[in-house]
Amino acid sequence: MKDSIKIERPEQCCGCGACVNVCAHNAIVMREDRAGFMYPAVEEDLCVRCGRCVDVCVFSEKQKGANGESAVYAAVNRDSEVLRGSSSGGVFSALAGAVLEKGGVVFGAAWTDGLTLAHIGVENEAALSRLRGSKYVQSSTGDTFRQVKKLLGEGRTVCYAGTPCQIAGLKAFLGKEQENLLTVDLVCHGVPSMKMLRDDLSYVTGGKLDDVEDVRFRDKRCGWGTKGSVAVGGSTIRYDAGTSPYYFYFLKGEVYRESCYHCRFPSEGRQGDITLGDYWGVREALLSQMDGVDPDMGVSCVLVNTEKGRQWFEAVAPTLSVAPSDRQSAERRNKQLTSHSVPLPEHQALLDGYLEKGYAAFRDGSKKHVKDHLVRTAKNMIPPKIKRKLREML
Ligand SMILES: Cc1cc2nc3c(=O)[nH]c(=O)nc-3n(C[C@H](O)[C@H](O)[C@H](O)COP(=O)(O)OP(=O)(O)OC[C@H]3O[C@@H](n4cnc5c(N)ncnc54)[C@H](O)[C@@H]3O)c2cc1C
Ligand code: SF4
Ligand code: SF4
Ligand code: SF4
Repeated sequence: MKDSIKIERPEQCCGCGACVNVCAHNAIVMREDRAGFMYPAVEEDLCVRCGRCVDVCVFSEKQKGANGESAVYAAVNRDSEVLRGSSSGGVFSALAGAVLEKGGVVFGAAWTDGLTLAHIGVENEAALSRLRGSKYVQSSTGDTFRQVKKLLGEGRTVCYAGTPCQIAGLKAFLGKEQENLLTVDLVCHGVPSMKMLRDDLSYVTGGKLDDVEDVRFRDKRCGWGTKGSVAVGGSTIRYDAGTSPYYFYFLKGEVYRESCYHCRFPSEGRQGDITLGDYWGVREALLSQMDGVDPDMGVSCVLVNTEKGRQWFEAVAPTLSVAPSDRQSAERRNKQLTSHSVPLPEHQALLDGYLEKGYAAFRDGSKKHVKDHLVRTAKNMIPPKIKRKLREML
């Protein structure tokens, strides 16, 4: 008889769902803790003590990167509509489109009924738009790892995009390298819980949570940056660090799952065949090689980590404006490529406050940071072209 999965400290579990998917007896369910983060719980009467859930859990192990030295690029999707709906340069959609063209299935995070974020599989271009765009909250993988295994068994091509811990979980679940599987991981600094986001949306919409139709964390109508919008009851309201205490604390790195503060992926290797992020601070020297792209519409940072990743990236390159870059330039304004988030001293007090007083802790706490809001707003008001010029001069 073997042990079943047990989470002794919250930082040991990233919530990837590999254990839930691997249990042939459906003895594991994900349960919400008081802050709204999901953790596996074993239903003892169903468990046969096979130990498979323990074996599949790789989060606390030293990670093996998928790769050796990654090739690094700046890239932008040439389709302006796709680019507008994407958070960065729209490279995810280019890869996903190529997989769909082969009759494949693409998995990614989408808003589902009742405003939850879950991974779903899509099989056509129209549905792909649901996956587009970064949603800054944890996505539930549900039973998608099992779905992937079934599809691969049927000979279908599959693309799975998600956070590095989700890709590591999927790979551990599948057990061996799969020829027809393309994995895409994101540069990631951490995820808050769905409960926190729902509390926040209730606050920013004045209690109209049930009427929320869409949430965009990155709305390019406001340029390439961290300004978003919420569609509610037929109107659109601004959603950014100035209007939302949740978004404010998200950007400060104060409200993540505990595992995110202990995440090994930035330093121990990328998990996907391809890694995607924002190419913040992309220099004119690179932009000048990219057929006159408008950098204010977003530029992707692409890390090609494996031979399979190289083949897929080459296949979609004609649909992109691409310039070769290097790791050092990409890391310059993106520390998430090298190290995990580190909480400030107020993190624990904020979390304790949230457990005690609920959302009021975020609302009241963020009011104390009016100066930070003002500085951020002032910075956002400087046109991106001028910001770039200033950076080039420094
Ligand atoms: C929580 C989170 C934190 C991030 N932090 C950084 C960062 O610090 N630095 C950086 O450079 N880039 C970060 N990114 C990545 C960046 O925001 C873009 O997602 C990435 O550059 C891909 O952009 P794109 O334009 O190619 O495609 P997009 O269409 O914008 O990408 C969408 C893809 O992201 C997936 N996705 C969206 N939300 C989630 C989610 N919550 N969980 C799992 N998958 C999701 C979708 O399934 C889809 O595959 C983060 C993304 C997320 C979701
Ligand atoms: S497999 Fe994933 S969800 Fe399950 S215990 Fe490990 S980290 Fe948590
Ligand atoms: S030990 Fe086996 S049966 Fe029990 S929860 Fe884990 S995988 Fe399921
Ligand atoms: S920071 Fe690490 S643990 Fe947290 S969501 Fe991202 S990959 Fe997962």
